Formats: sequence, structure tokens, C-alpha cells
Amino acid sequence: MAKYVGPVCRQCRREGVKLFLKGERCYSDKCAFSRRGYAPGQHGQGQGRKKVSEYGLQLREKQKARRIYGVLERQFRSYFEKAERQKGITGENLLVLLERRLDNLVYRMGFASSRTQARQLVMHGHFEVGGRRVDIPSYLVRSGEVIKVCEKSKESPLIQGIAQELPHKTIPTWLNVVVNDLSGSLVRYPSREEMDVSIQEHLIVELYSR
Ligand code: SF4
Repeated sequence: MAKYVGPVCRQCRREGVKLFLKGERCYSDKCAFSRRGYAPGQHGQGQGRKKVSEYGLQLREKQKARRIYGVLERQFRSYFEKAERQKGITGENLLVLLERRLDNLVYRMGFASSRTQARQLVMHGHFEVGGRRVDIPSYLVRSGEVIKVCEKSKESPLIQGIAQELPHKTIPTWLNVVVNDLSGSLVRYPSREEMDVSIQEHLIVELYSR
């Protein structure tokens, strides 16, 4: 599936849940889903009454997960295949892989207001992992690795604005952030309860197991 280039908020309305794709706006009364929490399109308001098939539910859950983490279909599928090969519960393995993405961790650590912004910051080369600059948003961070804002980037007004907000951010317990150093580490991989994301991963596993 090609990259989605339409209106971002439409994706939340399609999935029937806030996906938090637009940073601060998502928490304000400008949020399109808060104002119009029904599906987009001419028949959107009648969608709630429509009976959805099991396949439809599974498909929607997969699309929702893809949209939350900003991953294209082919890459999402490869995460699933990797999760299947790992020990443990496939659905949880899949979520952990998604959480380990560099752009996701930059967002979780409070260095960006959304995963979209995190992706851009990573692509513009503002971060290093383990002392080396990494500009690949899908880079899979390993347990114990340290993510840090590059020295040069600390002078950027954008990064300075982010640094000011950082002390007010809530950081998950499986991450450690050193505010003064603009760095953070992946202390350990999260458990399912610690991954604050409204996805029913078993539906995705069922979809790909058809
Ligand atoms: Fe979704 Fe955020 Fe847009 Fe609200 S503002 S509809 S949460 S992307």
C-alpha cells in the first residue's frame, strides 16, 4: 500500500479513535475527532450502524496500528514475520518491534510532539544512537542503547524549544531520559501493560494467519 498523503485527521475519523498524529493539536479542542467523531465521507455518520465482518475488524486493527506508528504495509508485514520468528507471543513481539523504532522512541522520550515530527527530526540527522548519527526512522534500538541529540543540533531553535518542554513530559518507565543532556536510553523492552497503545494485536495476528 502506498504512502497516505491525504488529510491526517481523516485517519483518526476512519479508525474511530484518536491516533495522536498531530502533536499538541490532538490535545486541544481543535482536534477533528473530538469535533466530528464519525467516519469521514458522505455516509460517515451512518457507519456506526453498519455490521462489520470479522475480517473487516482485523483489517481495521492492522490499519490502525500502521497509522499510529507510521509504517507502510510491506514494512509492517516484515515486522510481523520477524515477530513470528521470535520466542513468546507474536502480537506482543510485534508491538515491541514497533516501539523499538527510533522515531517512536524519540517521540516517547519527549524529544518530539508526535511520531511524525520525530520521524522528520531523525531524518534531518538530529540524533545519534550509541555515539553515531542515525538518520533512519525505522532503526531498531536495542536494550541499553542511548539516543542523544547531536551536539550541533542543540543550537537549533527547534531543539531548544523541545528542550524547554522536556521537563514537563511524562516518560514511560522502561525509558530513562536525562533532561540536561538531551539524551535517553531504552532501559529494557516494555511489557504489554507498559505499552500505552489501544491496539488489539491478536486481531492483527489473526488477519495475517488467514
Ligand atoms: Fe487525530 Fe490528532 Fe487530528 Fe485529533 S488532532 S483527529 S487526534 S490527528
